[in-house]
Amino acid sequence: MTVPPTEIDRAIDRSGLRPGGRPVEVVVARDVAEVQETLRRAAASGLAVITRGAGSGLAGGAVAGEGALVLDLSQLTRIRAIDPVDGTAEVEAGVITADLDAAARAQGLMYAPDPGSVGISTVGGNIATNAGGLRGAKYGVTRDAVLSVDVVLADGTLVRLGRPTIKGVTGYDLAGLVVGSEGTLGIVVAARVRLLPAPRRTATASAFFASLEEAATAVAAIAVSGARPAVLEILDGATLGAIDAAEGTGLRGRGEALLLAQTDGFGAAEEMGVVVDAIAPTAAHVEWTEDADRAADLLHARRQALPALERLGRPLIEDIAVPRSRLAEAIAGIRRIADRRGVAIFVFGHAGDGNLHPIIVVEHGDELPANAITAADDIFALALALGGTVTAEHGVGRLKREWARRELGEDAVRLHDEIKRVFDPRGILNPGSGY
Ligand SMILES: Cc1cc2nc3c(=O)[nH]c(=O)nc-3n(C[C@H](O)[C@H](O)[C@H](O)COP(=O)(O)OP(=O)(O)OC[C@H]3O[C@@H](n4cnc5c(N)ncnc54)[C@H](O)[C@@H]3O)c2cc1C
Repeated sequence: MTVPPTEIDRAIDRSGLRPGGRPVEVVVARDVAEVQETLRRAAASGLAVITRGAGSGLAGGAVAGEGALVLDLSQLTRIRAIDPVDGTAEVEAGVITADLDAAARAQGLMYAPDPGSVGISTVGGNIATNAGGLRGAKYGVTRDAVLSVDVVLADGTLVRLGRPTIKGVTGYDLAGLVVGSEGTLGIVVAARVRLLPAPRRTATASAFFASLEEAATAVAAIAVSGARPAVLEILDGATLGAIDAAEGTGLRGRGEALLLAQTDGFGAAEEMGVVVDAIAPTAAHVEWTEDADRAADLLHARRQALPALERLGRPLIEDIAVPRSRLAEAIAGIRRIADRRGVAIFVFGHAGDGNLHPIIVVEHGDELPANAITAADDIFALALALGGTVTAEHGVGRLKREWARRELGEDAVRLHDEIKRVFDPRGILNPGSGY
């Protein structure tokens, strides 16, 4: 179904990046055949195809400028099957991540990947960005849940990559290659994903600290404690203040940093005891609960971090990861950058993965202040200097290309270019975005 290309909402994502010009066409696909037909048409005419799920991306990946065709998959919303014995689900790309998890839970299972945007993002978008999430500390990222993907190639061919089984090593890992390829290698129209038993018990702790550095020290203590929390999130005082203003919570008054930890499984309470012992020496105050509603409130507050900062201005959302052992150094480095460049940097992230989101908030407007751009560059350089990465989960998109190429290095970029040519010889799939 083609809709008027004047709908700017379908030409942008949540990164704040604005395209130059307008797309020529917006196709909201109703089925896989329509995706194939659109790709055949685009291949024949050389039109750039910008695929989108929900447009919740933060890297400028689903941003469509002059002359592009937007291919919207948000209406491919069928959960085709859930098999509790195999522990798998077959889903279409436009299924909202939380809907898949809810359908799995109805059968005693769970879909583990849970980005902060779980209630709005699509499974296809999560696969395309290899999204992480709050439970990543224990369950990993989207790649860990994907068994196979149905992909429409640049010439319209539909191909299944990967395998139906939990185990299997036949052929190259082409499904793995598509995961995280940000719409540059093919269009994911459906996937078979792994489901896990839904944990029967959870225990959730909130620990407040006098500084973010102390919270980072506590993360290291948990890492060597023998416990493995499913969730281990970190938020600084400024972010807590923004959440309080948006949600009416009273977090900021309790400390300059918050660690949110959740253990799950049959021994959740016992494991939480180990976590609490590990952080007690550095925490100003720790409390924990097995009450599901209290836990849901805490996790909800965490998920509101980015929307709360969006209320303050235009956020430049960074997404670095460093080895967990260097988290405290990364935090100290970010503080120095904020002071040196004279910008406000809010920090929160998935501490269990060493993944920090330093967010520079600037006034709304098209022009970014020079000191904000320099501060962002400093943050990328810091991540690389600490042996980390410039994007842990949001992807490269249009915003992080230069730094991604620096991180990859010349030889790896050449390999990427060659792989891209195999999948997309005419370069029509999301040009200008990714690595
Ligand atoms: C409040 C908030 C919290 C967030 N929290 C997290 C988080 O915790 N972890 C995290 O990883 N991300 C997070 N994000 C970022 C975002 O939600 C993820 O990147 C998500 O995976 C994007 O899904 P989407 O369906 O919105 O994809 P889009 O934004 O529509 O697209 C993202 C990229 O994937 C491509 N794409 C989309 N669908 C397909 C497809 N079917 N086939 C091929 N290419 C496709 C697009 O071209 C684009 O390059 C958050 C965003 C917000 C707004």
